[in-house]
Amino acid sequence: MDAEAIRRSLEGSGLRCTPQRYAVMAFLMECNRHPTAAEIFQAVNRMDPRSSRATTYNNLRDLVQAGLVREVAVEGRAARFDAKGVRHHHFICDRCGNVEDMEWYDVRRPGSRSLGKRMVRECELIFRGLCAKCAARRASRKAG
Ligand SMILES: [Zn+2]
Ligand SMILES: [Zn+2]
Repeated sequence: MDAEAIRRSLEGSGLRCTPQRYAVMAFLMECNRHPTAAEIFQAVNRMDPRSSRATTYNNLRDLVQAGLVREVAVEGRAARFDAKGVRHHHFICDRCGNVEDMEWYDVRRPGSRSLGKRMVRECELIFRGLCAKCAARRASRKAG
């Protein structure tokens, strides 16, 4: 995604395109590792040492609220973030905590009886288990 597209998506969501906000968004767009807030701050700070931790965290929060960035809650660990435009599900490894993207497929919405008066905005799945690396390690331990 180019600079102009990032600026448009920020402004389209009612956010001013400040250099710091832009930096957070640009980093997340190209980062596939689902970084934590601390990692985002480190990366943004490397590019522009003037941006403070508080500003970075506030920008991150604004981007999540605007729906441009998604927060992936990882139990017992720091939340991870991603800004991929393409919808996807997640796989979280129990052992190493890795958060991986899984190809999107539609999930059936709950029926109106279980939903009641709630209004669903979005629905995504989180798969949990062992990532390929950890699964292989476990398999080789068993064999040996
Ligand atoms: Zn793993
Ligand atoms: Zn993701």
